[in-house]
Amino acid sequence: MRVILAVFLGLSGTLAVWSAPAMAAPLPADPQETAKFAAFVQDFRDTALKAGVAPAIYDQSMSELSLDPRVEQLNLQQPEFVRPIWEYLDGAVSPQRVAKGQAMLATYGTVLANIEQRFGVPREILTAIWGIESNYGVAMGGFNMFDALATLAYDGPRADFGRRELVAALKMEQQESYRPQDMTSSWAGAFGQTQFVPSAFLQYAVDEDGDGKPDLWHSAADALASSANLLASAGWQRGGVWGYEVTLPQSFGFDQADIDKTKSLSDWSALGVIAANGAALPRSEAQASIIVPAGARGPALLVFDNFRVVLKYNNAVSYALAVCLLADRLKGTPPVAHGWPRDETILDRNEIVAFQSDLKRLGYDPGDADGVLGRKARAALRAWQKANGLVPDGFATEQILMRIEQSLAAQGR
Ligand code: CA
Repeated sequence: MRVILAVFLGLSGTLAVWSAPAMAAPLPADPQETAKFAAFVQDFRDTALKAGVAPAIYDQSMSELSLDPRVEQLNLQQPEFVRPIWEYLDGAVSPQRVAKGQAMLATYGTVLANIEQRFGVPREILTAIWGIESNYGVAMGGFNMFDALATLAYDGPRADFGRRELVAALKMEQQESYRPQDMTSSWAGAFGQTQFVPSAFLQYAVDEDGDGKPDLWHSAADALASSANLLASAGWQRGGVWGYEVTLPQSFGFDQADIDKTKSLSDWSALGVIAANGAALPRSEAQASIIVPAGARGPALLVFDNFRVVLKYNNAVSYALAVCLLADRLKGTPPVAHGWPRDETILDRNEIVAFQSDLKRLGYDPGDADGVLGRKARAALRAWQKANGLVPDGFATEQILMRIEQSLAAQGR
């Protein structure tokens, strides 16, 4: 569960590339830094003990730790290139992942039927999360959880997260009698087959295979049921769908296509929205949003509250869409019919910073020039597009950046 990363990814239509780059060989440990880290581990003992961690647990897990230079590097790295959503989806919903997911649905049929009955979350959604988080239990992260979390907790942009999750990891060890050396995770502390963070384990982990203990590393049943418990607690509606592809009318007002704006199906229908298969939308007061994650030239998806529940697992539209579209493929639903605008060039990180400061100079409020396309930046872009007679879809491309720079030049700024 990569909830913390989602804060940095935002609700953009794109997902930053967080996979590990080729790294230079780590430098030998700096003695001053080593001493500072040891002092941090000593100081943090009080915090952990006050939170209910037994002294023996703390000393056992924290005595032999060292700063992990690979974690430090990944923590500080700002990915420059951002993958377009269609490339991300190509990887996340690949034919191999669909095929393996279908095999897993068959192998774990009884387990998944029981979990579906217990929590009301469809087996395909759970299997899709499993596939995307760890490739069905194959890639669960090769870091020691305490090295990773202590390194994040010590210093850097995720220190608060690291401290909270470090305490949770210690409590998890204490509660479950785990051996600290067996507790592996990603560099960001997410672990097991569905990549929970330790605090999510404490809140949502359940035993499904009946041995009396939740084990998200070794028991697929426990991991899948724990994810189902999380989604059910976040409000997944039993029997409900996440959404489906729609076709928008020529006249559609793209400023309405926003995850934060909802209307009833009857209202969308009155605006001329139909299902992608040509059927009329049901006349219903059920509330839904329309999203166009690749702008007006890409597919349009109608999404219900269940889609928003998936966003609570990871707050990136591209992630939630990958889970839902993979789940559809596992069910045998055909892929999205409308093509993706693969000829568009999206902005890299430096270009997003330029785009944000340009919009600001033009009198819009795109938020901080932080290189992340968040809600404010997209709203500012929509306002600029509207003022300039363009389709207000909030989708930032190199072409848009060029036009914005032209209007700055025309104003002599
Ligand atoms: Ca178990």
